[in-house]
Amino acid sequence: MKMTSTTNNLFQLTHLVAFNCYLVREDDGFTLIDTNMGGQAQAIMKEASKLGLPIVRIVLTHAHVDHVGSLDALHEALPNVEVAISERDARFLSGDKSLDPSEPQVRLRGGYPVCKTKPTLLLHEGDRIGSLEVIATPGHTPGHVAFLDTRDRAVIAGDAYQTQGGVAVSGTIEILFPLPALATWHKGLALESARKLVALQPSSLAVGHGRVLNHPQSEMERAIRVMEQSLAKEERKQSHVA
Ligand SMILES: [Zn+2]
Repeated sequence: MKMTSTTNNLFQLTHLVAFNCYLVREDDGFTLIDTNMGGQAQAIMKEASKLGLPIVRIVLTHAHVDHVGSLDALHEALPNVEVAISERDARFLSGDKSLDPSEPQVRLRGGYPVCKTKPTLLLHEGDRIGSLEVIATPGHTPGHVAFLDTRDRAVIAGDAYQTQGGVAVSGTIEILFPLPALATWHKGLALESARKLVALQPSSLAVGHGRVLNHPQSEMERAIRVMEQSLAKEERKQSHVA
């Protein structure tokens, strides 16, 4: 696992080039954002102890396997830490893959493993957890959330954006790293969420796959335009078929 320090408070941990999770420094220890794929618990704890602080809470951007893979092992090793995820994606952890009647009835994509760990806190738009504000960003998954660090406006965006293989909104296929797009549930919602994040005027953008971008505004806007064009193209194609 490779550790990259990006700002004073944000440390990126990378497994296999493109799979990230993050340690966010708080006064009482680290908040771990996402848990990477399975088998990474020891490596994550080692990086935290190298930095000299305990992990005091685990927060999840969404319930895909490459973000919750090491959750159970971490929870076993750190049974007293808070575990937080959106109320909506928490259902996936317990094996409930149903859609709500109010949601677009579109097939779920990507792996949603069942986890033994029960969340201790269910997150909603606007909640605060340490210095982080919860930003609801549905689309990649129904209950996907991003986090805004209120101290420096860093945004930890999960898979709402990717920077691996090119800066893209979740749902736009980047040939060099198509995984997040292939796992995206609803592109229209993902686009709305991408717009919501750029409107926060983030100082940096930290993603599940790829490097952290500083001053990301123009690259995010470009990625949004690409997504808008590709959705418009799809709509034209569909209206031809219909
Ligand atoms: Zn994902």
